[in-house]
Amino acid sequence: MMTGKLPMCPRCETDKTEELTKSPDPGVWVIYRCPTCFFAWRSTEPDFITDPKKYDPNFKFKPEDMATFQSRANGAGPH
Ligand SMILES: [Zn+2]
Repeated sequence: MMTGKLPMCPRCETDKTEELTKSPDPGVWVIYRCPTCFFAWRSTEPDFITDPKKYDPNFKFKPEDMATFQSRANGAGPH
């Protein structure tokens, strides 16, 4: 991994995000992905998408919610 700074997930605010893909011309845009809430966003989207502080609270997602959601979605987990 050569990437230095990854943004915070605007939706669940985890800092464990990853780069999904980037523009053919380097530095134009990057698509990031959050493995916690499965949100993906492009670096060039408006700040109410990319900025956790401006992201619509109605669409916010907490990692705790995800745990609940996952245990509901697949009751028979890998353990
Ligand atoms: Zn997230």
